[in-house]
Amino acid sequence: MEQNVIDKIYIDGKFVTPHGTDLADLFNPATGQVIGQVQFADEVDTETAIAAAKRALPAWSATSTEERIDALRRLQAAVAAKRTEMLEAVLLEFGAPVRNEWLVDSAAGAFGDMIKTLESFNFTRQVGTATVQMAPVGVAGLITPWNSNLFFIADKLATALAAGCTVVIKPSEMSATQTNVMTQALHEAGLPNGVFNIVTGLGDVVGTTITRHPDVPRISFTGSTAVGKVIFREAADTLKSLTLELGGKSPSIILDDADFESAIVGALFSGFVNSSQACVAGTRILVPESRLDEALAAATAHMADFPVGDPSDPATAIGPMVSERQWERVQSYICRGVEEGARILVGGPGRPEGLPDGYFVRPTLFADVTNDMTIAREEIFGPVLSILTYRDEDHAVEIANDTDYGLHAYVFSSDPERARRIASRLQAGRVSINGGYEPLSPFGGFKQSGIGREYGAYGLEGFLESRSVMQ
Ligand code: NAD
Repeated sequence: MEQNVIDKIYIDGKFVTPHGTDLADLFNPATGQVIGQVQFADEVDTETAIAAAKRALPAWSATSTEERIDALRRLQAAVAAKRTEMLEAVLLEFGAPVRNEWLVDSAAGAFGDMIKTLESFNFTRQVGTATVQMAPVGVAGLITPWNSNLFFIADKLATALAAGCTVVIKPSEMSATQTNVMTQALHEAGLPNGVFNIVTGLGDVVGTTITRHPDVPRISFTGSTAVGKVIFREAADTLKSLTLELGGKSPSIILDDADFESAIVGALFSGFVNSSQACVAGTRILVPESRLDEALAAATAHMADFPVGDPSDPATAIGPMVSERQWERVQSYICRGVEEGARILVGGPGRPEGLPDGYFVRPTLFADVTNDMTIAREEIFGPVLSILTYRDEDHAVEIANDTDYGLHAYVFSSDPERARRIASRLQAGRVSINGGYEPLSPFGGFKQSGIGREYGAYGLEGFLESRSVMQ
C-alpha cells in the first residue's frame, strides 16, 4: 500500500515544511499496519505560528459580528465539501465505524452552531452607568485529543474566531491524516493569513511551547486529566485563562420506574459511544437492587446490539482502539476488574473471535461491581462497562457523585419530574434524561473533569474578557 507522508504544517495561510525533522508512524488501528508518517513540528515552528497569530490579531479582533459570521459560513461550507475525504480519514486512521458519520458531520455543525450563537450574542452590555465591552482575550492556543479530532478542531476554532481571537491549533500527533484533510478544507475558506495556524507535533514540545508562551493568554484544552493538570501548572507562570475539558466516569442511573428494555439499550449506547473512546461515555450503569436480575438479563441480551468488528462494515457498532497502547491499557483494566472480584457477564480479556489483527477489544460487561473498584473509578476509554446496584434514590445519587470526575450523567425514568429532581442533585456538567440532547448548552465538568465550559454562548464567553467603560 502506498504510504502517505504528511510533511506540512499550516502557518500564516501557507502549507510549510516544518523546521522539526522527527518522523513518526501513523497506523490503521483496524489492521495494525503502518499507513504513513508524519513529520512533527518543533518549538521553532510553534514560535513562528504564535508570531503569525499575533500579527493577525489586531485586524481580526476588529472585525464585525457580520464579518465573523461570514467567515464561519465559509469555513462551514469548506468543511462540508470535504465530507467524503474526512469520512475516509476517520475510518483509516481512527478506525471509526462507518455508521459514526456524526464524527465528521459534527465538525461542519460546530461552525453552524457558533453562527447561531453569534446571531444573538451581545458583545456590549450595560451595567449601571458602565458600558461593558466583551473583548477578545488575544491569541488562543487550542490543544486537542485524538478521539474526535475533526470536531474538536472545528468547535474550538469556531468559538475562538467568533470571539475575535486568532489561534494556534495543536492537534493530537496521532491524528495527522485527519488533521491534514481538515487543514486543506479550512484553507479553502480563504481567511486572512495568520488567523489560524495548525502545528502538529508532540505535547511536550509543541504543546508546552504554547502553554508557556507569554503571547498566548488563553488555552483551550481537551484531553486527559493527567495532561490537564500539567497544563494548569505550566500556564500558571503567565496566568493564562484556561478551559480544560478532561476525563469522565459518567453514571447512567436507571430508575425503578424506567422501561427497562429501552433504558438498558440507552445505557449501553451511552457506554459504547465512539467505541467507548469518549469522555462522556456512561461507563457505570446503576440499577435498582430490587430489579438486578432483570437488568442483568436485559443487558446481557442487548450486548448483541453492539457488535465489534471491521469499521468499514455498516453493521459494526464498536471499532478498534486507536492504538496498541490503548489496547493494552484496556486489557489491563479488564484483568484488574477480575482480580478485584467483579464478574464478567459478557466479553473478557483478549481479542474478539475472528479479529486477530488490529486493536480490537471484546466488549465487556461486568456485574458485581462496587464503586471502590478500579474499573468503577478510573477512566478506561474502551468498551468495558460496569453494572452497580443501589438501594434507593439517595443511594443512587451518592454512588453517582462518588467519583473524582463530573463530566456527564444519564438518567432513565418514565417520570420526568422525578428524573429532573435526581438531575438537580448530580455533580455533572451535563445530565441527559432519556437521551435528551442540546448542542448549544454549556459543556464541561465538575471536579476533575475540568475547568470552564464550551459550546454556545457559555463557550464564547471563555474567549472574551470584559472591559468596563465608565463615564
Ligand atoms: P492526552 O491528554 O494524552 O492528549 C491530548 C492533547 O494534549 C494531545 O494533543 C497531546 O499531544 C497534548 N499534550 C500531551 N502532553 C502535553 C503537554 N505536556 N502540554 C501540552 N499539551 C500536551 O489525551 P488523549 O489521549 O489524546 O485523549 C484522550 C483523553 O481525552 C481522555 O482522558 C478523554 O477523557 C479526554 N477527553 C476529554 C473530553 C472532554 O471534552 N472533556 C473530550 C474528549 C476526550
